[in-house]
Amino acid sequence: MGKPTGFMEYARKNDGAKAPLERIKDFAEFRLFLSEEERGNQAARCMDCGVPFCQAGMELPSGATGCPLNSLIPEWNDLLFQGKTRHALSRLLKRNNFPEFTGRVCPALCEAACVCGINGSPVSCHENELAIIETAWQNGWMKPRVPAVRSGRRVAVIGSGPAGLAAADRLNKRGHSVDVFERADRPGGLLMYGIPNMKLEKNVVERRIRLMEEEGVIFRPGCEAGTDVEGGTLLRDYDAVLLCCGSSHPRDIEVKNRDAKGVWFAVDFLTAVTKSLLDPAEGKALPELSGKNAVVVGGGDTGGDCVATLIRLGCGSVTQLEMTERPPVKRARENGWPYWPKTLKTDYGQEEAAAVFGSDPRRYQTTVKELIKDEQGTLRAAVTVSLERGGESGQPVPVSGSEEEIPCDILLIAAGFLGAEEKTAAAFGAGLSERGRVETKEGSFAASVPKLFAAGDARRGPSLVVHAINEGRRAAAEIDGFLMGYSGLS
Ligand SMILES: Cc1cc2nc3c(=O)[nH]c(=O)nc-3n(C[C@H](O)[C@H](O)[C@H](O)COP(=O)(O)OP(=O)(O)OC[C@H]3O[C@@H](n4cnc5c(N)ncnc54)[C@H](O)[C@@H]3O)c2cc1C
Ligand code: SF4
Ligand code: SF4
Repeated sequence: MGKPTGFMEYARKNDGAKAPLERIKDFAEFRLFLSEEERGNQAARCMDCGVPFCQAGMELPSGATGCPLNSLIPEWNDLLFQGKTRHALSRLLKRNNFPEFTGRVCPALCEAACVCGINGSPVSCHENELAIIETAWQNGWMKPRVPAVRSGRRVAVIGSGPAGLAAADRLNKRGHSVDVFERADRPGGLLMYGIPNMKLEKNVVERRIRLMEEEGVIFRPGCEAGTDVEGGTLLRDYDAVLLCCGSSHPRDIEVKNRDAKGVWFAVDFLTAVTKSLLDPAEGKALPELSGKNAVVVGGGDTGGDCVATLIRLGCGSVTQLEMTERPPVKRARENGWPYWPKTLKTDYGQEEAAAVFGSDPRRYQTTVKELIKDEQGTLRAAVTVSLERGGESGQPVPVSGSEEEIPCDILLIAAGFLGAEEKTAAAFGAGLSERGRVETKEGSFAASVPKLFAAGDARRGPSLVVHAINEGRRAAAEIDGFLMGYSGLS
């Protein structure tokens, strides 16, 4: 604990952000960093608690609490306060392979569990983490660390999202030769195509991929396992295969005229936008939506990313529909510490919508009942309907007479995911559970097929980047033990 009185002396201060009306002019990240001195003061707020709930990542019956990676938060906060940022970096990297990703997109389970938050504001661990890793990149401290000895063992990782990248990074550093197969044209999974630039600039992902390549990881983009290369071939040619293919089977909506032109799955749309930003020279134009009316089905984080993207594309109206009830607004201390709070959150997309259109775009307990298309099959309107709790099971049921027709030129479906894609699992002879997850043995990442393992959203279900990194790290430890007969990784 660098400064015993820090938590009493300094109030929490967050990194700034460009004003909503300013930042919607482009797709760039809009964070403004605190000065080094102010950042040190924020780190000084950490009390080095006897029981650091922030780092005690646990899944308890009442919910998740703390950092799933068990990041050594009090240690690196202390070192950051002391100005020993390089030392802080080494403690940060001990538990987290990619703090530049989590420092940008993690919802900060650590902060929800911070003891300082019980009776005040939590320590700004999330932003401190980002400050440490970005200082490291800027100062050239992130140098390739090539393993001195190779084990002679080969591992194929299928999918290059955070789970696949974390596993590849760890296995490579243990001296195994790792090939990462990725069906998209660029590695990164949802970090590249999914999470929008505003939250995570793509050069941040590319920078990390380059470093991993320099360290010896081989990326094979544009190669779909099960199609371009057979699962059986990979199982034969490699000593272990790790499936990190994500949970990309989207939940659809069953409504009249679902086939209208202008209806997209959210990730397909976000991918198309990112692709057009990355490859304008290839003639990939941004979707033309100036002045158009948009509806987003789904009030979660993906829906929020869609809202922000549609606003940047110049839409004239954006409505976001959410089936569930509006969560309660609670003060921090009523949030049920140390659990992740289930309270109303206003994300950057909703903040921007309020600035542009004058109100929050979310309509709770509302869904789409029907779509209306013109003679050319182009989407023209959406009929929404209010929902109320009903029936014996308490499921939401439509309120009769509450239908409303709203103009709609583009409708994005951000209604969640049903699980992994069956064809990839099947290509390796693996099964999917009823919930669409690649089946692994109890308490293990090993599938029932010899040499086959699974991790990330494919195994856990749709989740968070921090959980995917954690899965990849733990799967790598198990694979290392499988290959070598023992493992020093934990
Ligand atoms: C729009 C959106 C926004 C999100 N925002 C956040 C956020 O802000 N914060 C957060 O913590 N989480 C966020 N998430 C969730 C997070 O991105 C995921 O939990 C995480 O990326 C899962 O990592 P993964 O490695 O398991 O899978 P993915 O990131 O999904 O990567 C899987 C990869 O496997 C590839 N693949 C699939 N099949 C094959 C095959 N047969 N052969 C080769 N490659 C294959 C896919 O192309 C993909 O690149 C968001 C999700 C979405 C959809
Ligand atoms: S990974 Fe997430 S939960 Fe863990 S320390 Fe970083 S911001 Fe907190
Ligand atoms: S719970 Fe908060 S104050 Fe305590 S060690 Fe963790 S970050 Fe520091």
